[in-house]
Amino acid sequence: MPDAKQLFINNQWQAPASGQTMEVVNPATEETIALVAAAGRDDVDAAVAAARAALEGPWSRSSARERGRLVHRVATRLMERADEIARLETLHNGKPISESRQIEIPAAAECFEYFAGWADKVTGETIPVKGNHLTYTLREPVGVVAAIVPWNFPLLLAAWKIAPALACGNTVILKPASQTPLTALALAEVALEAGLPPGVFNVLTGPGGTLGQALVEHPGIDKIAFTGDTATGKSIMRGAADTLKKITLELGGKSPNIVLADADIDAALRGASIGIFYGKGEVCAAGSRLLVDRAIKDEFVDKLAARAKKIVPGDPLDPKTRFGAVASKKQLETVLRYIESGRSEGATLVAGGARADIGTGKGYFVQPTIFADVAPAMTIAREEIFGPVLAAIEFADLDEAIARANDSAYGLAAGVWTRDIKKGHYVARKLQAGTVWINTYNVYDTAAPFGGYKQSGFGREMSAHALEHYTQVKSVWVDLNM
Ligand code: NAD
Repeated sequence: MPDAKQLFINNQWQAPASGQTMEVVNPATEETIALVAAAGRDDVDAAVAAARAALEGPWSRSSARERGRLVHRVATRLMERADEIARLETLHNGKPISESRQIEIPAAAECFEYFAGWADKVTGETIPVKGNHLTYTLREPVGVVAAIVPWNFPLLLAAWKIAPALACGNTVILKPASQTPLTALALAEVALEAGLPPGVFNVLTGPGGTLGQALVEHPGIDKIAFTGDTATGKSIMRGAADTLKKITLELGGKSPNIVLADADIDAALRGASIGIFYGKGEVCAAGSRLLVDRAIKDEFVDKLAARAKKIVPGDPLDPKTRFGAVASKKQLETVLRYIESGRSEGATLVAGGARADIGTGKGYFVQPTIFADVAPAMTIAREEIFGPVLAAIEFADLDEAIARANDSAYGLAAGVWTRDIKKGHYVARKLQAGTVWINTYNVYDTAAPFGGYKQSGFGREMSAHALEHYTQVKSVWVDLNM
């Protein structure tokens, strides 16, 4: 672990100008595990100067293939250090080590591998225009990119931004969430070991309100790639307006998971459970609204509740643990407040509903929680909880299922369970969501685009679509008249 109290600017570790630090807490033990630097405006100036110098200097002269090789080396080095980085991810986030080691770190590495392959395949076009001209396009980098990421998948969501940005020739300043800065600092080490030139990748740790804001307002930054809360996304959009920065926003969700009466019930039960309880429900695409056909509702909810009661929170560092700690005290309080609102607004609690203790008397653990008889107007049916709390809502027919699913300000993801292939595709087309899963849930691949409809944001991460957000198109006209 590098000295966590330092920032990574221009391939050097340096103390923040203010000398100030912030505590990082392990949510499973409530212990302070590190002090990290709290960067401010002066540090943003330094990082921007380094990123711009690299952008206009050696990085712009590197060949696309060479950039691809360097990005690929990041992937290789990440996997070589996967055990240690997975441990850091679990320590600051509270997710089970099996998830960090088997899912998140490999997915982050895969993202670097995937975009490394794209580096020398981003091409322009020649265009048949009027008159005697040769007209062609160049796909050029956008410039200095600030990547601002949340605490639920700290390394993976950073990779989704950094990998395409670097492959396309941009330079990057990464700002991790205050709660989870440790793997971003480890990634800085990895970048150094992979041989990225100075200034190409920089990491500033610090609070969102001040450091994040400073990045959003800085005239030397060309693009903000953000994942986080919808309210923060709106504030970033306003803040970026003055300098007309390009922005992509991956925001919150309240994703519906629809179970039709003809579904394979065992598969749907597994999918509904994974949909809400994977990652402690701290997943932007969590299937947090379960829409179940009235005909099967009672049986389905009973079976799901029985499953939920078997999911026992445990020590995140234990390889056998499948359900960890909520990421922070603040988040624990938010989740408990929503559970209380479910109770007081009249929903029926059928599983969980309380803080959990893993036998240590410490840690921000919550029982997997399910509410039945939830009315669409209730707070727990409308607001993103970002925790392991499921709201089960019934519907009478397919039209009502679709209407209820779309009755949300969000549109990130959705699921539908049915044995009828025509119904599955029909519902997929009708749902207002950036991702629809049919007879599965929470599956991702770097080659498939991910992003929001409606207030879940705009822009797409992963896949070839991400390249559009990290390049800009220049038309070049050449007079060929003799
Ligand atoms: P958040 O918006 O509070 O913080 C996200 C990041 O933004 C952090 O790094 C934070 O420090 C920074 N930040 C905070 N205020 C800022 C400001 N005014 N200006 C600039 N930066 C600022 O979100 P969170 O609580 O860390 O994350 C949870 C949210 O993220 C949930 O709403 C979840 O749905 C969303 N999320 C979305 C996706 C997706 O892909 N759509 C993925 C994961 C999480």
